[in-house]
Amino acid sequence: MAKSIAIIGGGAAGFFTAINIAMKNSNYPITVFEASNKLLSKVLISGGGRCNVTNTISDPKLLANHYPRGFDYLEPVFNQFTTTDTQNWFENQGVLLKAESDGRMFPISDSSQTIYNCFLQNAKKLGIDIKLKYRLTDLFFDQDKWYLDFKSKKEKFDIVILATGINTGVLNILKNLDIPAAAPVPSLFTFNSKNHEQKPLSGISVSNALVSINQIPERIEKGPLLITHWGYSGPSVLKLSSWLAIEIAACNYEFTLSINWNNYNYESLSNQLLSCVANNPKQKVKNWDGHNLPKRLWLDLFESLGFKAYVNWSEIGKKGIKKLLSVLTKYEVNISGKSTYKEEFVSAGGIELNSVNMDSFRIKNHQNLYAVGELLNIDALTGGFNFQAAWSGSYVISEHLSNKI
Ligand SMILES: Cc1cc2nc3c(=O)[nH]c(=O)nc-3n(C[C@H](O)[C@H](O)[C@H](O)COP(=O)(O)OP(=O)(O)OC[C@H]3O[C@@H](n4cnc5c(N)ncnc54)[C@H](O)[C@@H]3O)c2cc1C
Repeated sequence: MAKSIAIIGGGAAGFFTAINIAMKNSNYPITVFEASNKLLSKVLISGGGRCNVTNTISDPKLLANHYPRGFDYLEPVFNQFTTTDTQNWFENQGVLLKAESDGRMFPISDSSQTIYNCFLQNAKKLGIDIKLKYRLTDLFFDQDKWYLDFKSKKEKFDIVILATGINTGVLNILKNLDIPAAAPVPSLFTFNSKNHEQKPLSGISVSNALVSINQIPERIEKGPLLITHWGYSGPSVLKLSSWLAIEIAACNYEFTLSINWNNYNYESLSNQLLSCVANNPKQKVKNWDGHNLPKRLWLDLFESLGFKAYVNWSEIGKKGIKKLLSVLTKYEVNISGKSTYKEEFVSAGGIELNSVNMDSFRIKNHQNLYAVGELLNIDALTGGFNFQAAWSGSYVISEHLSNKI
């Protein structure tokens, strides 16, 4: 008799796993148990309602480098199912994807409803049973069967796949099963400035900033930076928030952000300023345009140093040059708190990957128990990589189960 499969969680990972298993083995009885009364709710709000399904980066090694938690485990997983497989998979279901210039891929409809419909229609076609308002509260294994508690209801299955994302209830279940998990902390967020002196500049962005955190100096991120009305955002800040999610949480979101506004090299910028002193002594420093920054930002930085508007290069002196270099290459801001990046956010933390067989996503030391998606200690930079981890893991489970039975 075909083994029964319970998938816990009706989100991206739960659905992709259920559908792929059913596509390969039509006689597996599969049930998806969802705690809430809504399916795929994160899919629907993802990517600002457009669902950034995947990314154009397809080389498994390069792809794995986009996962601050998981990079050292994911290359073989992406070797089995990478972003091009995702594109093909959706195209085979009639969902065409398009790429944007930064590599993010969306359905051509620009609507996450397309992905939702694709999953719901496939689940129906494949006979997958879906049960809403079933919150798993406990599970235990006895004589070849998993026993599942859903508050008052109880169920019995051969195989259980956990795809719940992270929450306190699930962490307690893992604890009871002795499955090690890292505590969840937010990843992918923007920084709030304490006394936001650059608030009048909100909306201004630079394309080539270097950002780092004085208290956690090991990581410098490069890329666009956006001044917002509450602080700082943009790809460079989001990357920093992701790579240092755990360390920033440990600082209680209080730290000093250091900004090099245009990837300036200190030495060459210093020479550039000294040549202004030598060659243009009577020109006003304020009118200098060698900085390649938006003019309003340059004026703000210049004025923040307390120089008189008419000061010229011959008057600025060594101290003045040093101050200019400092404000351009190491502008420091006190950060206090974070804000949600509405397009995409995830939790770092979850089941430790060394307790999972990554060639099947089976949890070690437990028979017929698997985990996939955000419940695992895998999270990525923004760009469709978080969904990709869910698709790849789900696919690997489906391959493993279809080979097994
Ligand atoms: C606003 C937002 C936008 C995002 N945009 C993108 C994007 O564009 N691209 C991208 O790659 N990633 C994006 N992400 C991240 C992406 O949504 C997640 O990585 C992905 O949804 C994880 O899928 P999952 O199935 O593991 O978890 P989830 O999508 O969280 O699904 C888990 C499901 O399990 C259910 N559940 C929880 N506990 C239980 C229980 N005890 N019993 C039964 N059911 C339970 C939950 O109700 C939920 O429905 C976004 C996230 C957010 C919050």
